[in-house]
Amino acid sequence: MAVAAEPRHLRFAVIGAGMAGILSAIKLTEAGYTDFTVYEKADRPGGTWRENTYPGLACDVPSHLYSYSFALTPDWTHRYSPGPEIQTYFERVARDHDLDAHARFGDEVTRCAFADGRWHLTTASGHHDEVDVVVAATGVLHHPHVPALEGLDDFDGAAFHSSRWDHDVAIDGARVGVVGTGSTAVQIVGAIVDEVAHLSLFQRTAQWIMPQENPAYSAEERAEFRDDPTQLRGLHEKLCEQFDVFANAIVHADSPEMQLVERLCREHLEDAVHDPVLRERLRPSYRAACKRLVVSGRFYDAIQRPNAELVTEPIERIEARGVRTRDGALHELDVLVLATGFQAHAFMRPLEVVGRDGHTLTDEWKQRPSAYLSISIPHFPNFFMLNGPNGPVGNFSLIDVAELQFGYVLQLVDRLRAGECREVSPTEEATAALEAERTEAAKGTIWMTGCRSWYLDDRGVPAVWPFSFDRFRAEMAGPDLAAYDLR
Ligand code: NAP
Repeated sequence: MAVAAEPRHLRFAVIGAGMAGILSAIKLTEAGYTDFTVYEKADRPGGTWRENTYPGLACDVPSHLYSYSFALTPDWTHRYSPGPEIQTYFERVARDHDLDAHARFGDEVTRCAFADGRWHLTTASGHHDEVDVVVAATGVLHHPHVPALEGLDDFDGAAFHSSRWDHDVAIDGARVGVVGTGSTAVQIVGAIVDEVAHLSLFQRTAQWIMPQENPAYSAEERAEFRDDPTQLRGLHEKLCEQFDVFANAIVHADSPEMQLVERLCREHLEDAVHDPVLRERLRPSYRAACKRLVVSGRFYDAIQRPNAELVTEPIERIEARGVRTRDGALHELDVLVLATGFQAHAFMRPLEVVGRDGHTLTDEWKQRPSAYLSISIPHFPNFFMLNGPNGPVGNFSLIDVAELQFGYVLQLVDRLRAGECREVSPTEEATAALEAERTEAAKGTIWMTGCRSWYLDDRGVPAVWPFSFDRFRAEMAGPDLAAYDLR
């Protein structure tokens, strides 16, 4: 292949200014790519940490791990720091790297179409752009799942999804209902139970809960991290190793590590819930970590408070005064919080993407989302996703994942710059072969051991990375060019 004497100038569009979009901007600049725009529909960066503001919001990945490897900070206040602190961290990193110089806030990309070797972008405001490379950093859990509960519009009180928390609604002294028992609901319940007059938790499925301690870092500890960056890096690396063990455990359903997780969850339930009847109502009928493992040191205590009630009767409908359950009881409420999760398989949609020769994302993903190594799609040249379909998700740091993915993407982009090719996309064959291997491996994981969760696709197969994290790291070390269609 002929290599151009002059490096090709490349213009980029990054879609989204959340964790992965900020990362992209920083890494592009570092690699010498300065012609790019970060499109963000909101008015500031932060992604999920900007959108979620519910009480109790935190990340259950330790803060010193849930940090960019190149922007470790000594300042985290807690082992698991609260959501607003995480949002402040992302805004600070974005500011430190002058994201504003490249960002277009308050404008949503609605269409990307590939024509004449370039991507043509259109935004909601009617703005047009033409770029060589698109990086979709649009997040995983983004579009709220609002269940079709009969009568929801008839409710006289305030009702909102957990990711659209209405801070104008007072919960102090109110009768609050929470629907759902995922990570979000569990954090909310622990945070609000002491404030509300009465709390009703509507549980459709019980959850296993890993115990969690959340000590604060003392001023001395933080000063030590500040004075000795090697300590800070050492902690980050140690946490990475610990989470590798966990990531590997969940793909080996019968591993000793998985058995340890299960034992810890069982013991937590036995030790923390005193009433044997309540304990059985809280006991899941499936294996721990089959659903996304919930981590909390407060939930069991909260649900045993005198003003808290666990409702396990199915919801029949919503009425003006509250929630009617199937046994005929009316649970009167002032506020109803739907902690009912997200449309996890939407990814960047409803963004309209039209690739080479008229291939549309709508058609390609009609059955289910799919991508080569979760990053790129056949017939969509020079279009890359971070935290795309079937990638590693779970109880570990998506920052680590995005950093590895972006390093991989840059290696492909560098080939465009070097003039080795003008278009790069994975072949259909490589994508199909990897997907077949992935699907087969996914069947042996803990996520497939008999529960309903947002991990499962339309076939009931976990839409996640089922191999070890080491394999992910090895794949991300460098592209196998045989898997690519280079033109
Ligand atoms: P989720 O895990 O999808 O949980 C949704 C909950 O809503 C489930 O309990 C579900 O019940 C219930 N639900 C849904 N539709 C319902 C209906 N029609 N009637 C009754 N119940 C209904 O959502 P999430 O808690 O928002 O968490 C989503 C993901 O976000 C997590 O898995 C995690 O990856 C991430 N997250 C992370 C953190 C963190 O600390 N890192 C915090 C929050 C969220 P079923 O179980 O019966 O389906």
